[in-house]
Amino acid sequence: MKSLPTPYRLEEDRGDLSKRVTYIETSRGCPFSCQFCLSSIEVGVRYFDREKIKEDIRYLMANGAKTIKFVDRTFNISRSYAMEMFQFLIDEHHPGVVFQFEITADIMRPEVIQFLNDNAPAGLFRFEIGVQSTNDHTNDLVMRRQNFEKLTRTVTMVKEGQKIDQHLDLIAGLPEEDYHSFRKTFNDVFELRPEEMQLGFLKMLRGTGLRIRADEHQYIYSEHAPYEILGNNVLSFDDIVRIKQVEDVLEKYWNDHRMDHTTEYLVKTVFQSPFDFFQDFGTYWDEQGWSRIGHQLEDLFRRLQQFLAYRESAELKNIIGLMKLDYFMNQKYKPRKPWWEASLDKNGRKEIYEYILNKPEQLGSSFTALALNEKEIHKHTLLEALPFDLETYLAEGTIVDKPSFMLAYFDPSGKGSTIFPLSKSGSIML
Ligand code: SF4
Repeated sequence: MKSLPTPYRLEEDRGDLSKRVTYIETSRGCPFSCQFCLSSIEVGVRYFDREKIKEDIRYLMANGAKTIKFVDRTFNISRSYAMEMFQFLIDEHHPGVVFQFEITADIMRPEVIQFLNDNAPAGLFRFEIGVQSTNDHTNDLVMRRQNFEKLTRTVTMVKEGQKIDQHLDLIAGLPEEDYHSFRKTFNDVFELRPEEMQLGFLKMLRGTGLRIRADEHQYIYSEHAPYEILGNNVLSFDDIVRIKQVEDVLEKYWNDHRMDHTTEYLVKTVFQSPFDFFQDFGTYWDEQGWSRIGHQLEDLFRRLQQFLAYRESAELKNIIGLMKLDYFMNQKYKPRKPWWEASLDKNGRKEIYEYILNKPEQLGSSFTALALNEKEIHKHTLLEALPFDLETYLAEGTIVDKPSFMLAYFDPSGKGSTIFPLSKSGSIML
């Protein structure tokens, strides 16, 4: 491999590098033997020439590559190699470049993560971590050695460092992982709150041990690539369809991070578990025919509200309050028309704005620092009444039944919003 010429310097690719994901391979093969994976067939791990790879990365960055994804099956299999490359990328990266790696989390040493937490600029690296299943019996059956405790330690430490986004993968349909076991896998992994979580469905790839022994687990699978399964002895086709419903809303609501406060509340307080929320909502979504139509951001809020109203959720008022908070928090510019009917009429709004103009210090020092005049306040802010105390919620994450107001300020240059809580006191008569 060390003598192979570089494939990364084709003249026709040069103009496009900034718009594409650039895939780069620095090693080939994997020492593990997961029976569903093509890489388990090959023996050993081989490396390309390190210095040539570094030159290629310098070349790609110099020609505009922004997202560079390493396809190495387990980038951190050699600690010294991974450390050398991490250091190189930290030292020589261009602004705005992101490097993505597939790593095996349970073999990652805490000192490596500490090094990244201390030295990597936020957003430079992104990790993809295959968890697949947390069911030990299932992992044994596919010869996948995985220590979920150590994996949890790694993912938690990376998350606490707040430098690296993590994408965790699961596979539905592994041997002896039935619907309930998959629900547990999902909940175990969601507990780690990865920035992204992806549900994949098992594929019976040619030449893999699992495909050779497909009959042992009564696998039914497509004869055509990508050979996705349709069921096995413990997972029916109906179960697979239900899990696909979970996948659909997980993608829209969690992975896109449009409603983190709302989702957190729903999965902890309203539903028995995160999986149950995504399953119930995903099934409803499918039944409404929403999988077949497009949607704008506001539709996502309206549809969640419709689903919760249909379930007659007791906490609906608070949930809608959190949805409004999420909506404001994720806007770059002041929205023209939010998805709900304004909770304050003209006079009510006027009264509160007057109060704020007279006593801006009630909204804290960062609001006073904005030094907004009357015209600017009306132009760049939105006001909303909430059924819970926003200040307590933002400080402690707890919902206290005590009405308050939320003032959202939208920076006119498009830098996003800032939320200011205002307690409902005797001075405001509403
Ligand atoms: S699933 Fe990952 S760890 Fe397992 S053999 Fe494939 S590449 Fe290696």
